[in-house]
Formats: sequence, structure tokens, C-alpha cells
Amino acid sequence: MVNYDDIKDEEFDDLLDDVLNTMSMHEITSISGVYEILKEELNNEVLELWESSQDYLKVDIVHDVTGGYQEAECPFCEETNINAVESDMCEHFDKMDDKYFYFKREGE
Ligand SMILES: [Zn+2]
Repeated sequence: MVNYDDIKDEEFDDLLDDVLNTMSMHEITSISGVYEILKEELNNEVLELWESSQDYLKVDIVHDVTGGYQEAECPFCEETNINAVESDMCEHFDKMDDKYFYFKREGE
């Protein structure tokens, strides 16, 4: 049996690159543990991509310290919306309930 003690780390890495280049993305992500690492590492990028593909989004309402005002940032124009009077809402605001503000990409 061949003894592999003489293979250098750099050599191994170069050859590993060669092997990876012959594989499809599906084959790579099917390797045990790889999908889980990528999922965790790229979580924010995936969520941003999902957000940018949506025409309707709900946003958690943030209550101020007194519990008086209910605020949320519009995901489309990043304006802060305050549930005090209707005129404080940006054009993307659609409706709200106890937990969320709802925004449409195309304002009215
Ligand atoms: Zn808006």
C-alpha cells in the first residue's frame, strides 16, 4: 500500500481544489455537514434575497418604552412609521394588527 506521509499540505490543498472543480454544487452541498455550515454562514444573504423578491412584507412592531407609540421601519423606503396618525405612515403602509405592520412594495 502506498504511503502518503510525503504529501505536503499545499500539495493536498491544490489537489483538493482539482477534485472540487470536477464536482457540481449539488454534490458539494450533499457532503455531510457542508449544507448546515453554508446555511448558517449565508443565512443573512439568503434572507436579504428573499426580502428583495417579495412584494408584500410584514414587520415586527416595536413599542417605545412607555408602550405608547408603535414603530416599525418600512422595508421598502426605510422610513420609520409611527402608529399615531395616518399621515405618519409612508406610502407603502397597508395595514396593521397587534403584532405587525404590513407593507406593499408599490405604494398607493
Ligand atoms: Zn415606505
